[in-house]
Amino acid sequence: MNWITKIIKAGEKIKSAIHKRATKEDIANSDWTSCCKGPILKKDLEKNFWVCPECNKHHRIKPKQRFDIIFGKNNYEIFKTPIPKDDPLNWADSKSYKERLKNARKKTGLECGMMVVSGSINNIKITAVASDFEFLGASMAAAEGEAFLYGVQHAIENQTPFLCITAGGGMRMMESLISLSQMTRTTLAINELKKNNLPYLVCITDPTAGGITASYAMLGDIHFAEPGALIAFAGARVIKGTVKEDLPEGFQKSEYVEKTGFVDLIVDRKELSKKIGTLLSILLKKNSAIISEQNETSENTTQLSKVAS
Ligand SMILES: [Zn+2]
Repeated sequence: MNWITKIIKAGEKIKSAIHKRATKEDIANSDWTSCCKGPILKKDLEKNFWVCPECNKHHRIKPKQRFDIIFGKNNYEIFKTPIPKDDPLNWADSKSYKERLKNARKKTGLECGMMVVSGSINNIKITAVASDFEFLGASMAAAEGEAFLYGVQHAIENQTPFLCITAGGGMRMMESLISLSQMTRTTLAINELKKNNLPYLVCITDPTAGGITASYAMLGDIHFAEPGALIAFAGARVIKGTVKEDLPEGFQKSEYVEKTGFVDLIVDRKELSKKIGTLLSILLKKNSAIISEQNETSENTTQLSKVAS
């Protein structure tokens, strides 16, 4: 190798080191993430419930982080839910479904995309489920259906209210009709809750779409939504292409959906636990919590009585 070749090779090495792109894993393992003002330390975001202090963007979080915020850190019981046979249709696209499931489990530490827990707010026992968007886009398939039904069953057996924190792009195509049937199963399960006079509260988070919006996310007694969450059935581009009209500003965001009546209250993440506690106190007629909330702000009670009526 002569000196010219050596210089060229060294130059190429420097070039590739400079232009090396960060992988998704590098970004996930980094101490930093980004928002409106550029990079932000994850620990600073965490201190503010994973909400940007500048623009109030509610960053996506995992079920465990949500339950830590709602019930207090590790102050709840996590249930192991039944897992049906993996990959019932032997599906493969660019990767096999079995491999996708294996990767999702490794990435999230969950067996399926939904976590079921039992915790308390204002001494009211609550059964709750939440979805993990990192588990195949929090799509719904047989295992998630089983988790939802397990949660409902637990709520009925223990006579607790049921809280569902939704996320996900819809039903999981790799399980075809089996995943679509979860829309019916979850709807029937919610009917059982209602027959037992147990409150069913839904908190819609970003993004909630497709069959999830068309079933259990829209069947609550009360619907909360986090600010700025995407709430949709079909995507905006599909709708625009079908109706051939420009869509209104903020279309399919929580604030727009609230105006059209599909959401009762938009609640900041840090207020959610308190709001759930007060509403359940009203629904279950636990007066002391209602009185303390009434004393705090008249504005809140106006909203609450609007919801409760
Ligand atoms: Zn921001």
